[in-house]
This record gives sequence, structure tokens and C-alpha cells, in this order.
Amino acid sequence: MLKYVYDFFEGDRSRADLLGGKGANLAEMTRLGLPVPPGFTISTAACRAYLAQGAPPAGLFDEVNAHLREVEARLGRWLGDRHDPLLLAVRSGGRFSMPGMMETILDIGLNDATVGGLAAHSGDERFAWDSYRRLIQMFGRTVHGVPAEEFERELAAVLAAAGPGGPGAAALRDLVETYKKVYAHHVGHDFPQSPHEQLYLAIRSVFESWNADRAVLYRRREHIPDDLGTAVNVMAMVFGNLGPDSGTGVAFTRDPATGAPGVYGDYLPDAQGEDVVAGIRNTVGLPELERIDPVSFRRLTEIMRTLERHYRDLCDVEFTIERGKLWMLQTRVGKRTPAAAFVIAAQLVDEGLISADEALHRVSGGQLAQLMFPGFDLDAAPVPLATGVGASPGAAVGRVVFDSAAAAEATEPVILVRRETNPDDLPGMIAAQGVLTSRGGKTSHAAVVARGMGRTCVCGAEAVRIDPERGEFTVGDRVVRAGDVISIDGSTGRVYAGSVPVRPSPVARYLAGELSPEADPLVAAVHRLLGHADAVRRLGVRANADTPADARRARAFGAGGIGLCRTEHMFLGERRELVERLILADTPAERDAALAALLPLQRADFVGILAAMDGLPVTIRLIDPPLHEFLPPLHELTARVARAEALGEDPGRDGALLVAVRRMHEANPMLGLRGVRLGLVVPGLFAMQVRAVAEAAAQRLRDGGDPRPEIMVPLVGDVRELTAVRIEAERVLAGVEGAPEIPIGTMIEVPRAALTAGEIAAEARFFSFGTNDLTQTAWAFSRDDVEGAFFGAYLERGIFPVSPFESIDTAGVGRLVRLAVAEGRAARPELTVGVCGEHGGDPDSVEFFAEVGLDYVSCSPYRIPIARLAAGRAAVRPADAPSDSR
Ligand code: PEP
Ligand code: MG
Repeated sequence: MLKYVYDFFEGDRSRADLLGGKGANLAEMTRLGLPVPPGFTISTAACRAYLAQGAPPAGLFDEVNAHLREVEARLGRWLGDRHDPLLLAVRSGGRFSMPGMMETILDIGLNDATVGGLAAHSGDERFAWDSYRRLIQMFGRTVHGVPAEEFERELAAVLAAAGPGGPGAAALRDLVETYKKVYAHHVGHDFPQSPHEQLYLAIRSVFESWNADRAVLYRRREHIPDDLGTAVNVMAMVFGNLGPDSGTGVAFTRDPATGAPGVYGDYLPDAQGEDVVAGIRNTVGLPELERIDPVSFRRLTEIMRTLERHYRDLCDVEFTIERGKLWMLQTRVGKRTPAAAFVIAAQLVDEGLISADEALHRVSGGQLAQLMFPGFDLDAAPVPLATGVGASPGAAVGRVVFDSAAAAEATEPVILVRRETNPDDLPGMIAAQGVLTSRGGKTSHAAVVARGMGRTCVCGAEAVRIDPERGEFTVGDRVVRAGDVISIDGSTGRVYAGSVPVRPSPVARYLAGELSPEADPLVAAVHRLLGHADAVRRLGVRANADTPADARRARAFGAGGIGLCRTEHMFLGERRELVERLILADTPAERDAALAALLPLQRADFVGILAAMDGLPVTIRLIDPPLHEFLPPLHELTARVARAEALGEDPGRDGALLVAVRRMHEANPMLGLRGVRLGLVVPGLFAMQVRAVAEAAAQRLRDGGDPRPEIMVPLVGDVRELTAVRIEAERVLAGVEGAPEIPIGTMIEVPRAALTAGEIAAEARFFSFGTNDLTQTAWAFSRDDVEGAFFGAYLERGIFPVSPFESIDTAGVGRLVRLAVAEGRAARPELTVGVCGEHGGDPDSVEFFAEVGLDYVSCSPYRIPIARLAAGRAAVRPADAPSDSR
């Protein structure tokens, strides 16, 4: 027969899958000889069996009885004994902590007979009746769903009728009678007098609470699998509400907010644990316990030291003091803020409790990201106006503007507010402190661009109704006009009216070289852990950067080069007109003239970037997006031409542009004429860019620099596309005097390229996975549409644990990556392989790329420290460690 029940003496902390986190840690404390009330744990396997068949597995309650008899023998007290009854606490406890989501029932074992025994044993009749009424209330609500208000109403009446000392024993005895009636009325039979029946029903209801709505919802949000089940811990009750020498509390072995050493906690004299959690009465700090009960305080601090040395980490504990005797009711490795995580990890290394490698697994890239962004000072408790998706963290305050031109011209800090953004908004986004949109999600244009720039962004705040014509937006009946100040929090997605004070991040200032590592304990800890990550990581970290300023920032943040320099951003602004000339050219001469005008501008761009990244590789991608993105939108041109015609005027250049835009219109431009296809059908375009790279490099060499450009071809699907571009590019390169040797490689961003990677590698010096497009094309998701359309529903229904545009889909897209790496390297062993999609800065994805054996990841400058840390973690990952969890 299967074993379902484990005495606390039998388990240990390694068995959390079976015993749940709470049960495993109770067992561990029992093994350590700490004062844990006797008890046993019913395994998660029993819960799974119960939920599968809707009934307890065969023999379960016999096993429970056998273990109960052991507990009784150990204590010399019996469940149901009318003189000195044993009472039991029945608590849930799954593999992962789900605070408050499942059920607990205390005081099991009280009935009309044993309540007298409890009164005699405790010498406190009032306490005994109060415990009994608590049991009926908890049991009624949990096991039979009796509405809590039904009991609370009766309790309130008794409290109101009582004097300042609270209700006496007689009033509480009457209340128990009333409660029994409430119970019988709702349930249809009397409150069970058999303690064993109470126990069995309590166990069943804890099993069932695994599937309570709130528990299901919590698991979905926290990505906890639904099929784990909860364990049930049955433990002898100890009482913190037996007078002034009793009490209950929670404590941490270090400060979980800052990581500062020294025990922290709250204590509530003369109370049960539930009173602390419910916040019914005000607690006192642990120093007060030292005054009230120095012996228990000393014992508690000793135990906490033992636990911390044993678990080699911050622990939190729940304890109860029953008439001067300390009992430990729970411990676990405690939750902490991101700042505390770094500080504690560094302290534990100093204290010799963990190695520097282990310290990297005590923090995560997600936590580092949190530490880099300025935050709002929420002491003033501002009330949010609306909430959207926190798309690019940070705290931004500014005056509302609705168009990019106004943002770009503003002299004061502004927040750009748009339904959604497009490439035309770039200047406004650069100028604004932050961006707020009412549509789109974490990979919408606004989100991707804002993250790339480290600009705060809240997307998809649907309650915000924007009316640019009237120069206002509304949320419900609240109107915010252009020029009004708002504050947006890119971490939480909250939008506030007015100005909320902002705190700069010391970690970001340190990373930018503005603060020394000794500045404060947090900065010192980040410095140490990042330094260690750099020392152990095998994965290089480059930046996605298109301007010298971004390149410099990336370098300060520790980038080892540029992995993606997108050249299309260099065709915007006033250069747009040159692109128009190129598109409208009727003759080769006109076209060459347009290209010739672009060449020096491009060359100057590259000179600046190569200088900023002197001595490091700079991968320059030839132009990728469809050219009509550089032309005015169809509807705008149509309107302009129609207006001119109506007025009898000559539409001039607009007429020609309209013809071109109509000709180039595509139903699905992301799958249309872009990337390498563009290079092959627009003569001279790629050649101009290649020449600009080569001439810029030659100039840097003449200036004494060490330029290391690489040329990358986007959207290749077939090796012949690459061959054609490579031959032309090499011809151009050969013609530029004084240029260094410049490798030519390709992006792998459509499935066919991944599937034919062996052939393509024969023509490419390097691969860089464009996982944005690869995700889009592998899933048949239109990047710009799907997030707003249905990603919310998919996340909500658990079809995605996380958006595949945010964290790499290892099973599908990741498989294409693996395959292409293997076949590419088989064809060309010295092939350099990197990734430059958004995933290159996502900690989970970085760990995947490290495991697949890429040479580098490339990400936006602000995510470089995060990628460095994630790469370090991946290099020293113990076999059983989970990957980064945000
Ligand atoms: C990609 O597709 O992953 C990529 C980096 O290119 P872009 O996002 O510019 O299409
Ligand atoms: Mg791409």
C-alpha cells in the first residue's frame, strides 16, 4: 500500500514536492531538535489522489489514525479526552507558498464535553469557550461554506453587549449555542461532536481548497502548475492566547526590506497566530519581546541563528509562546525585496555561508532590472487614475502632450500620450520623459522602442480615452488636458494625475559610472555580484544600439560590442526626403544622386558609432523595413492630394508620392518587400550602405582608431539571397581603399533560414538570431496586431505562461535556434553565433541561449547588466537550480 502520511520525524526539507514547503520545513526543524509541536504531514500525493477520485484514497484515514496515536502517545494527551484534550491544527501547505489562498482549521477536537477539559486544563473558562466558537466558525465556513457574516453578526452583537473587559465565559457559552444553531440552519445537521470526524472533514476541505477560485487564480498569476496538490499538516495546538506570558509572532533572520543584519519581527502578546495575520490588534516589535520575556527572546534568536546557518539563507519563522514556552510553528526561506536579495547574498558570501557562485543564484536578472529604475516615492500614497501594462520600467513625470512634434519642441518635461505609436513618433519619444498609450502590450511599437531607449512606458491603458483633436484625454468623467501634469510608473503600469515625487536609482547611477561601488551597501553588493558574473560567464553581451550616445552608454554598462545596429532609424527626420527621392527616381541617374546624397550622412553615422565602440565588434544591419514606411501614410497623402485637387491646385510632389505609395502598398508588409528582398530589388541601396561602412572604417583607421565593423543581412530565407548580396558587398568593399577586412553574416529570423542553416553557414561568417521575427514567423503571429487582439486572453487562460515575444518559446522557436546552431557550426566550425531579438535581454531567455551555446546575446543598453548577470548565473548553474524567475 502507498504511504501517504509522514510524521515530522520522517521527512526533511528535500521532500517539499511530497510534503509541501511547510511540511518539509517542519520536518527539517524537527530533525534539528527545535521545539516543533508534534504532528504529521499528509502528502501532496494523497491530495492528488483525492482530487482525482473525489474521495480519500483507500486506507488514508487509517494511516492518519496511526500517526495520531503516536502524537498522542508522545504528548500523553488524547483527542477527545474530556479532562485534558489534545487539540489539533490542520493547515494547508503546497510545494510553493500560496499565502492565504488555501484553508486552515484550528482547535479541532473541541466539543460539548472537551470544552470543559480545556477550561480546566487552561484554568481559563473564557478562553475555552472562545476557542470552541472559533472552531465552529472556521469549520462551518471552510467545510460547509457557511457565510462568514452569519457568524460575525452574532459575534458583533455579543461584543457590543459586553463591557470594556470583553464578553465573559457565560456570554461566550451562549454564543457557542447560537453558533451551533447558525451552523445547523445552514448545513442541515448539527455540528459534529466527534473529534475524529472533525479531523477527517477538515482534511478533506483542505484538499478541496486547492481548487478554490482564488487559489486557481493565484497559481495562474504565479505560474504554479495546477496539478501539484497541497499537503496537509496536522499539528498539536499550542496556545498564544493564554494570558500575558503567552503570545505569537513572526520574525525574519534579517531585514527582508533592506537586507540589514539583525532579527526583525512582530509580536502580539496574548493572541493566536490568526490575529497577527488578520491585523486585528497592533503588534509590537521584537525588542519589546526581549523586555516581556527575555528567556524566550534569547531562545528565539538562537533558533533563528541556527536556522540561518542551516538553510544558509534568510529565513522567516512563525512562533508561539505558550505560558513562557517557545514553539516553532513554521519556517521557510523568506521572501525579500530585490535590494535585500543582493545585500543578503553578498553578506552570506562574506560570512562564509555560501560561495560567490551560489550568490549569483540568490539574485535574478529581474530583480536587478527592478533596482535600475527610478521609482516613485509612494509615501504620499497617491491614487492611480488608470492602470495599463507596465511596459518599460521607470517613473516619469511631465506635462501631457498628444503629438510628437509638440513633445520634441517642449522645453519642460513631457509625457507623450498616444493611442499607439509608430516610427514617426520617434523624435517625440526621445524627447519625452515617458510614453503612455491606450492600446498595445509589452511588445507594441511603443514598448519595444521605449525599452530600447530606457524610456518609461505604460501601454494599453484602455480606460484612457484619448481625443487629440480636443487636446484632452478622459478616464471616466475625469478630464486631463494637454499641459496638465501626470506621473506614470512603467513597472506597475499605474498612471497618476499630478506630480508624484521620484527617487533616482543608486544602482543605475553606479552602472553609469556616476557613483562609486562603496557608495552604499546595495551598490557594493551589485558591484560584487556583477563582477563575479563577468568573471565566470562564457556568453558575451553586446548591445542593440543605433547612435553614438547609445553606444557609449552601452559600453559604460559593460557591453562587449554592438550586436545590432539598425540602420533604418538613420533614414528618418530630414533624411526622409532623400529616401523619397530614391523611391521616386525615374532614371538611374536620379537614383544614384539620391544615394550619393545619403552616403556621407550614413558614413558620418558609422564613424560616430565605430568611435564609441573602438576596439569592439559593431554589427551593422543593412536596411530592413519596407521602404514605404519612410513615406507619408496613404490616408494622409490621399487627403492632401484630394484637397489640392478640390482647390484646383497642383498636388505637386504629393501626387507622385501617392502613386508610389499606392504601388508599394502591401496587405502584410512584415511578410513583404523588406530585408534582403529590398536589397535585391532596389539597385544600389545596400551597396551605398556597405560603402558607407567601409569608408567609415577606413576613416577611423586613418584617425588611429580600431574599427571592427561587421555587415549583417536581414530576413534571409535562402542561401542564394545571401550569396547575391555577399558578392555585391565584397565588390564594393574591395573598392574602398584603406578599409579593414569586414566580415559578412546574416540574421536567422525566418524558419526557412533556420531549417537550411547548414547551407547558409557556407556563405555567412556569423549568424544572429532575430528572435522577434523568428517568433512572429514561427507562430504566424503579426507582431503589431496580436498583442492587442488576443494575447491578454491567452495569458489569462494560461495558454501562454508568458508572452513568447518577451521570453523565448524554447519548445518551438528555441528548437529552431538549436537546430540552426548545430547545423551552422557543423558546416562552419568557427561560425560566430549570437542573438539580437528582444529576448537577448530577457533573463530566462539568456539562460536558454547560454545553454544552447551561443557566443553572445545582444540587447538594449539598459538591459546589459541584466544579461551579464543572467549569463553569469547560467555559467554556474547547479543541476537542480530553476532558471531565472522574475
Ligand atoms: C528580430 O527580428 O529579432 C530583430 C532583431 O529585428 P527587428 O526587430 O528589427 O525586426
Ligand atoms: Mg527582424
